Amino acid sequence: MFNRILIANRGEIALRVIRACRELNIETVVVYSKADAGAAYLELADEAICIGPGPSAKSYLSIPSIISAAEIANVDAVHPGYGFLSENAHFAEICRANNIEFIGPDVETIRRVGDKAEARSAAVAAGIPVVEGSKGPVGTDQEALEVAHRVGYPVLIKAVSGGGGRGMRVAHNDMALINNLATARSEAEASFGDASVYIEKYLEAPRHVEIQILGDRRGDVIHLGERDCSVQRRHQKLIEESPSPAIPPDIRKKMGIAAVKLARQVGYHGAGTVEFLYEGKRFYFIEVNARIQVEHPVTELVTGIDLIKEQLRVAAGEPLGRKQGQIPFRGHAIECRINAEDPERGFAPSPGVVTHWQPPGGPGVRVDSHLAPGYRVPPNYDSMVAKVLVHADTRAEATSRMRRALDEMRVGGIQTNLGLHRRILRNAYFERGEYTTRFLDELLSA
Ligand code: ADP
Repeated sequence: MFNRILIANRGEIALRVIRACRELNIETVVVYSKADAGAAYLELADEAICIGPGPSAKSYLSIPSIISAAEIANVDAVHPGYGFLSENAHFAEICRANNIEFIGPDVETIRRVGDKAEARSAAVAAGIPVVEGSKGPVGTDQEALEVAHRVGYPVLIKAVSGGGGRGMRVAHNDMALINNLATARSEAEASFGDASVYIEKYLEAPRHVEIQILGDRRGDVIHLGERDCSVQRRHQKLIEESPSPAIPPDIRKKMGIAAVKLARQVGYHGAGTVEFLYEGKRFYFIEVNARIQVEHPVTELVTGIDLIKEQLRVAAGEPLGRKQGQIPFRGHAIECRINAEDPERGFAPSPGVVTHWQPPGGPGVRVDSHLAPGYRVPPNYDSMVAKVLVHADTRAEATSRMRRALDEMRVGGIQTNLGLHRRILRNAYFERGEYTTRFLDELLSA
């Protein structure tokens, strides 16, 4: 096992990794930007190193700054968290070239699944259904039109290197397709440094259901069940739950098998997620996330397995130690992502000083957050400030528990989306588990 690791991330996920390391007696070195200086969670690491100013490009995305911090701190490995450099194959390569283990899959695997068109091809090769669309990136407008005519409108233009729900555009006819292609390409180039795009049939009202996978370096791969992440605002997840209220047992089983097959096909080790859309009793592969995800605690609650500890163990070369049949699935878990956003201003980020912080507690409640009174939410990063999770025997009990937890919670000084969560948890469709990825946008435009 590692003796000392560097955490190349911030906020709640940095704290989550610190906590797992403490329990495993691994020393932690956390990096921070000037915008995060003084944050309480930094005190919980063994060492904290400032790597630059607030803008991510000069700190959390700066490979030279992070590598020199890792060398100064003399660590065995780097945990990249999610976002920032977590799926950057170049960063993984440089870490390993400097004899620092990168906690994640092989460089080749990160590259392969990070190219979404290539991941689609790997899924096809493994016999897994994908959403109908282009074979790879689309070159010319003519090629795009041919794909659209073959699969039928509406279609979705997606960036090959996209992520975070960004870089996607829907087109309903030829003219929109041609116009959107140009915009999508330039947006993709600006956001991801790669202008290539591909095309998928746009499913009108699917559910987003993903499978958590875990693999070791000896080639063993298992899955830890699914998470339903269909409550999304503009393709960004807001609420996740497990088990999915919509998936029948035979589909759940097939999805799990498909995810493991794909992971084996690309030689996956570490923790990862295989994402699917589910519509009309069929599921379709959309992408692989080669990292730990925001919503991982949902799976931790139903399986009792600490995914961060598992990541550390397999990265250090230990075997999985569990067979597929030995994974317990118990009860129901729900997660609400609390964002510093102003509901009065179209959910625009609402940075500022947290004057009051009262997280919920009591039976079956878990809060993953780096907030504390006096903490200043910087304007530079993602607006998520807390994850509220509940676990109970049934979905009805979990829903009721989440309502209670959200009602207990108080955050002062910044605006948050707490009110929206309280509203969703009392919505009749949500209560019945009847929602698709369209649910929230429809609720908000009603
Ligand atoms: P990202 O990596 O940016 O998160 P994904 O491919 O995971 O992109 O898609 C994010 C979300 O976008 C999905 O959960 C779903 O809501 C929507 N989406 C993606 N592909 C399709 C599709 N073909 N049809 C309808 N919705 C889609």
